[in-house]
Amino acid sequence: MKFEIKVQSLRQLARSVCSAALDTASLLQECSSAAARRAGGAASRLCLERKIHDLRSEIGLQMQAVGEIMYASHRGSPSDSGKVQEILEYVDRLQEKLDAHRRELETLQGLLICPACGEANHANCLYCQNCGKPLSRQ
Ligand SMILES: [Zn+2]
Repeated sequence: MKFEIKVQSLRQLARSVCSAALDTASLLQECSSAAARRAGGAASRLCLERKIHDLRSEIGLQMQAVGEIMYASHRGSPSDSGKVQEILEYVDRLQEKLDAHRRELETLQGLLICPACGEANHANCLYCQNCGKPLSRQ
């Protein structure tokens, strides 16, 4: 319970800091926009961290819903596999967004994410330190 409150208040703090930073930048509407990136690393990093946190929470909730449906079906209630499928597809989309935000955040932090294995490499690496594949730069 204590932990939940702490997480909640950190989240609110991140939100307010994020919106304050965006207000300061004034021309920004959405923190994922290119304008936010130009406005400065700190604000967009915070926004990305918030989005990643929110997506992880949402994925957790959806997976919990799947678990409850599975539990109910094993307890004799009619199974709703259509609903499960729907939720899992939704989770896949959330996961894709999450991965994209993580890559963006790590890029902002000066890391290069290997497109092949996902390893975070230092920005000056030309090849992945884990799998040896070339690292692309934008
Ligand atoms: Zn790699």
